[in-house]
Amino acid sequence: MTLSTDILYLKGMGPARAKVLNSELNIFTLGQLLEYFPFRYIDRSVMGTIAAISDEGQDVVLQGRITNMQTTAVGKFKERLTADLYDGTGYLQLVWFAGTKWVREKLKPNTNYLVFGRPSLFNGQWQMTHPEIENASDHPEKEREKFLPVYNTTEKMKSHGLGSRALARITENLVGLLQIRQLSVEENLPQDILDHFRLIPRQQALAAIHYPDSRQQLDAARTRLKFEELFFLQLDYQYAHQQRASRSQGRIFTHVGDHFNGFYKEKIPFPLTGAQKRVIREIREDMRTGRQMNRLVQGDVGSGKTLVALMCMLLAVDNGSQACLMAPTEILATQHFYTFQRMLDGMDVNVQLLTGSLRAATKKKLKQQLADGEIDLLIGTHALIEDDVAFRDLGLVVIDEQHRFGVEQRSKLWQKSAVPPHILVMTATPIPRTLAMTLYGDLDCSIIDELPPGRQPVRTYHRLERNRPLVFSFLKKQIDDGRQVYIVYPLIEESEKVDLKNLQDGLEMVQNYFPRPQYQTSMVHGRLTADEKAFEMDRFKRGQTHIMVATTVIEVGVDVPNATVMVIENAERFGLSQLHQLRGRVGRGGGQSYCILMTKDNLAYSSQERIRTMCATTDGFQIAEADLRLRGPGDIQGLQQSGALDLHLASIVDDEPLVAATRDTVRDLLNADPSLGRYPLLRQHIEHSKNKMLWGKIS
Ligand code: ADP
Ligand code: MG
Repeated sequence: MTLSTDILYLKGMGPARAKVLNSELNIFTLGQLLEYFPFRYIDRSVMGTIAAISDEGQDVVLQGRITNMQTTAVGKFKERLTADLYDGTGYLQLVWFAGTKWVREKLKPNTNYLVFGRPSLFNGQWQMTHPEIENASDHPEKEREKFLPVYNTTEKMKSHGLGSRALARITENLVGLLQIRQLSVEENLPQDILDHFRLIPRQQALAAIHYPDSRQQLDAARTRLKFEELFFLQLDYQYAHQQRASRSQGRIFTHVGDHFNGFYKEKIPFPLTGAQKRVIREIREDMRTGRQMNRLVQGDVGSGKTLVALMCMLLAVDNGSQACLMAPTEILATQHFYTFQRMLDGMDVNVQLLTGSLRAATKKKLKQQLADGEIDLLIGTHALIEDDVAFRDLGLVVIDEQHRFGVEQRSKLWQKSAVPPHILVMTATPIPRTLAMTLYGDLDCSIIDELPPGRQPVRTYHRLERNRPLVFSFLKKQIDDGRQVYIVYPLIEESEKVDLKNLQDGLEMVQNYFPRPQYQTSMVHGRLTADEKAFEMDRFKRGQTHIMVATTVIEVGVDVPNATVMVIENAERFGLSQLHQLRGRVGRGGGQSYCILMTKDNLAYSSQERIRTMCATTDGFQIAEADLRLRGPGDIQGLQQSGALDLHLASIVDDEPLVAATRDTVRDLLNADPSLGRYPLLRQHIEHSKNKMLWGKIS
């Protein structure tokens, strides 16, 4: 067997479970399964007693006998199975709602069992639902010293007999293959680096991360794997950076002409902030060096990145080339388009909008004009990266809200020109400042750290359902004062029917409280067509409706300065950066603005922390830092974010010493051996990830 062998062939797997792992975790091969690490461990050497149970939510390992098994019917088709576990110190009730038949057949009286699980209090009594149970004689005393791995599992996995414990039995077989050398893992770090940092071999680490023999071995495995992860991240970044610096020919934009100057002198609606000026200057410097620009512009929501983008795009036009701006949603692209049109009114600049929902004939015509060079500035969504979109001469690519785009999408844009276009990536700080410095080192990064004058920080409050009457009467007051409000509902998956129902119920409730015709309400969500969305957005923007009930489609970029209240429903279901983005929709007009976070009563710890952070600060950098701290490694949400945060095991925050060590090691290594001739393993890695790493040039 090899690492690319299908998991299907693993002992204990079977086709049904393999399929669930395929669909739920995207795991197809032994190698992928081996890299699905436990997120914590139960120390089996510390056996608990029933009498000593005092904590809810703490895993315990107990040993005892099962007595008094009972089945009761629940409804027509379901049943509930209970049994008592007696360990000499007391009784604990065990409960099952599913798989009862199987459990009933398996459990035998007067047999010694090991029971793993989390006790909970029910009617003043300790019980344990769906514990993991094993025959104690299957686990000789000496083996129990081992840590028991605990894996993240999904509901679907559990319902297919793939709970953490079942998965652990499978990975035990997998690790067994490594130990008897039926399966081998190649080393991917050079020997001198392993020696220097005293890292254990990859094969050993991958076995020990699942089944460590001791705490020390676990630490050694984790350190080794974290090092590797950070090392290759650094290698990718630094190699790409070195290549770019040495090879990439860029266009030379030396000319500052009529478009830029004309706009600056006559059209600009307000004086630029100092930070905007500085960033534009940095970008101008970049674009005239002859080196291809790759600049990340970080600026908090509302800091005025759009204007910076527009002015740089005009600079490209001044130098005879075209520029495009890609935004993550149709709403945002459309809004940018109107903003540009308005600001450029009366100037000789042809701006067009390209989105997926245009009619085929219109699209075709646009593409022709684009290829002929009639269009100067093109705004759009993902539609921009379709293969048949060809520019006559693309000189600058601006990517708005970069964290919303996948790696491949971004690199596709980059390939649309023979001489690589300059790249400007704009983001509302998904990466804390310290982190950006650590990671990117000398990569180009500009920060707009100043908001336009006259902005008052948005006041943020946490409210519960029972406070709703007060919240609504507050909204009424704001609307009666001529302001507008947003009410946002979570819609994690556009297809989630429950969420849509939620939204519609919400709309009904709002309309009951704010009756027509005195109050007008818009509703926007992902199920509407682009035209319908645009129509509703437009009515709200013009002030024809007072309330915008929406899902997160309005999350990024939407700009309606007269809106002063953002109500976020089920705020506990949103991530920090999302909450921050949503809040950024208000506080844009100079009037005091408010953000109201509505949640249920009992919040999980992490939700509480998110809400607390939001109420405590409006500083995007601080929020990004808190976000990073709260989201553990391997968090699914992280996938949408910058690649730097997609780390599996290492944490940019907590493993700062390792980050620094790998950064310096890679730097020295590349300085001494730029083409990696002495390091075939690393060379191989670079070759392998070349396609993926085109993005490295853009970041
Ligand atoms: P973001 O950085 O979040 O993309 P926008 O570019 O949407 O922010 O700008 C937010 C708002 O601030 C817009 O209404 C824009 O017109 C306004 N704005 C931008 N720059 C300035 C400035 N220098 N002075 C005053 N208002 C500005
Ligand atoms: Mg923006």
